[in-house]
Amino acid sequence: MNTVTVHEAPSVEIVRGDITTEQVDAVVNAANSGLLGGGGVDGAIHAAAGPQLREECRKLRATRLTGGLPTGEAVITGAGRMPARYVIHTVGPNRHAGQTDPALLSSCFAESLRIADEAECRSVAFPAISAGVYGWDVEEVACIALEVARSARCAHVRLIRFVLYDDRALAAFERAA
Ligand code: ADP
Repeated sequence: MNTVTVHEAPSVEIVRGDITTEQVDAVVNAANSGLLGGGGVDGAIHAAAGPQLREECRKLRATRLTGGLPTGEAVITGAGRMPARYVIHTVGPNRHAGQTDPALLSSCFAESLRIADEAECRSVAFPAISAGVYGWDVEEVACIALEVARSARCAHVRLIRFVLYDDRALAAFERAA
């Protein structure tokens, strides 16, 4: 007998908070191509997850991703000591390096969501990818993120939660919604 997979539009939530404490299936990390941790949300996720995450990232770099993770793509690992089950690492475009194509940022959100759905996650938390060190205007990030979330149709993901770290990012996402 054939089974039919129903793809539904997930609900979208916008909250203020620290993404490392989110009780969701997957937390998305605004990583850098090297995957071995950095500042901002990447540093916070690595600190909260502990050495197990660093080890998984190191293995990825030694096997599938010897050249690093390209901008706009995403990869999944475990979440170490965090409450989430998975971390999905994606590399946002760096405006300071001339990466100004919105399609690259859109791809970060869409690819992370696709991988979360493939891993049968029901809930996914996103930060404001590229809105920190990578220099994108958070208003633009919010519009792109919300556009991807609104048009998403998933077999498993039922909740997309944007977790914003400061007032400005929170206000931008609320406006975009
Ligand atoms: P990028 O290099 O992609 O710009 P950053 O980590 O510098 O990534 O910033 C992305 C966004 O993540 C910024 O809006 C920053 O305020 C936010 N951020 C930093 N720490 C956290 C955290 N613990 N939880 C959620 N968001 C965070």
